[in-house]
Amino acid sequence: MKTECDCDIVIVGAGPAGLAFARSLAGSGLAVALVEAQSASALAAPAYDGREIALTWRSVAILRDLGIWPMLPAADVAPLRAARVQNGVSSFALDFDPGEAGQLGWLVSNHRIRAALWAAVQGQAGLTLHTGRRVVAAQADRRGAQVRLDDGTHIAARLLVAADSRFSPVRTMLGIAAALTPLDRSMLVCRVAHDLPHDAVATEWFGLDQTVAMLPLNDQQTSIALTLPTAAIAALAQCDDAVLAAELTRRTDRRLGELRLASTRHVYPLVTAWAHRFVGPCCALIGDAAVGMHPVTAHGFNLGLSGQALLAQQVLRAVRRRRNPGAAPALWQYEAGHRAAAAPLFAATNALVRLYTDPRPAARVARDAVLRIGAKMPGVQAGIRSMLTRG
Ligand SMILES: Cc1cc2nc3c(=O)[nH]c(=O)nc-3n(C[C@H](O)[C@H](O)[C@H](O)COP(=O)(O)OP(=O)(O)OC[C@H]3O[C@@H](n4cnc5c(N)ncnc54)[C@H](O)[C@@H]3O)c2cc1C
Repeated sequence: MKTECDCDIVIVGAGPAGLAFARSLAGSGLAVALVEAQSASALAAPAYDGREIALTWRSVAILRDLGIWPMLPAADVAPLRAARVQNGVSSFALDFDPGEAGQLGWLVSNHRIRAALWAAVQGQAGLTLHTGRRVVAAQADRRGAQVRLDDGTHIAARLLVAADSRFSPVRTMLGIAAALTPLDRSMLVCRVAHDLPHDAVATEWFGLDQTVAMLPLNDQQTSIALTLPTAAIAALAQCDDAVLAAELTRRTDRRLGELRLASTRHVYPLVTAWAHRFVGPCCALIGDAAVGMHPVTAHGFNLGLSGQALLAQQVLRAVRRRRNPGAAPALWQYEAGHRAAAAPLFAATNALVRLYTDPRPAARVARDAVLRIGAKMPGVQAGIRSMLTRG
């Protein structure tokens, strides 16, 4: 049966970006519809997906403002004291210490953050949840936006916000082009237990034929994120636990001693996404739908969180001035602010990935030189530290 719903804002996608945006609108008096393909039960208890999110101080400040941070059990929050970048067989390391902040950030599992965000929006006044429903058609123009769901429900809104992943079907339906770049590499992520201490230090090691990130967790565990050509990761995804543990022990050069598998393993084919526009008439893209970063610099979630906060700020300002929540000036402010924040990070991350996955000898020399120059220039370390620890 076809249902007609009118609302102020329709959000597509209840991932971290969509849920945080819905939560940012709490208390605004706006009628908001949130559409998500997954069922309510899957959203209430999301399965572990292998992603450990390195949250910056700014992200934690946003999560605090949204009331999410206190909902995360202390046992699920691991301190990230410092970070280290190493290249190939060189023993040289570029270290990022926390300075006066005391720590660089925190590590929290993606599924725990999603569960807390989902719990926080339950019963939120003005918010209607359409779960287990997929958007099959969407359009927006200066008069407003319309979406149709797979059960025939039709939703009309003054603003449509797409938060439906880096592959964003809604972005395509809106006619917004994006550069999607498959990298022919995949990342395998899992937790391991070990006997040697990690000292709450994250290590990003660009080996000769692999990239390994070691993210320190509680209970003497570490999250391993191993990036290899897609075919090599596919083989590792199939092998039994003991073989994988032995392979990870070897590939981490026994830095943490003998590794034991402590979770399921998850594979992510690496694809970056950059939308040519973040807004259109009465519509906006947030989260990975706007910018899908390579995970190596651990910024996608953080960027999505700050982007939704900026959009919410602009929308709420328009509403306070008795303007349409989808008013063009509000959307342009979001476009300009988010693009300025995202573009340098996106470009720097992609340049880093190109340099550190290039097997040619000249590139190996260049990346060692980049690390050594970075270590000698106090501004580089201080700049990155300040970006991570700014609240
Ligand atoms: C291995 C890995 C590690 C990472 N580590 C970090 C890190 O340390 N720090 C960091 O900042 N970032 C990290 N990231 C990036 C981060 O996970 C993403 O940026 C973030 O999850 C994106 O959130 P999102 O809400 O935009 O999209 P998603 O989480 O992709 O959610 C999109 C939602 O939209 C729904 N959807 C899609 N299509 C439709 C439709 N047609 N109708 C209805 N619903 C739909 C989907 O079901 C989904 O729930 C990592 C990523 C990976 C892969």
